[in-house]
Amino acid sequence: MFAGANTGYEFYRGWLPDLIVACDSIDRLLGEDKRRFRFTQLKEKLGWARYYWKTEETRPLRLSLFTPDGLLERQHGLENADAAEQEIAQILLTAEDASRRTCIVCAQLAKIRSFGGWLVCTCERHGPDVMSRDDLLHACLLRDVVE
Ligand SMILES: [Zn+2]
Repeated sequence: MFAGANTGYEFYRGWLPDLIVACDSIDRLLGEDKRRFRFTQLKEKLGWARYYWKTEETRPLRLSLFTPDGLLERQHGLENADAAEQEIAQILLTAEDASRRTCIVCAQLAKIRSFGGWLVCTCERHGPDVMSRDDLLHACLLRDVVE
């Protein structure tokens, strides 16, 4: 799932439990035929998680459109995807959606807050009134563990 070319993996402490559940679901869904499924990028964007992926047949394209009515998220490239790939997309969208109400540090119930313009989903305990932006980044990233 994590082998091969990618444009970066950011693992966040608080969102890891939901990502692990999603990975396990995808692994069980694919069974013996992994279809070269892999993540191409894992990151935080506009306050919540984004999990980009591909298989040997499908590579969804994600668009974030800023409109006067707010942010519109679109996913394309699934028109010819089969049922398993559609389910992978749904599993990961569900995990992304959960990150919109899960603290990026501690996995407690949270909401999206601004750290000087950087939107991040945190609980009260890890909010901008308590932590600086740099302290939050250090607290939420598993980068040191991964590298
Ligand atoms: Zn927290």
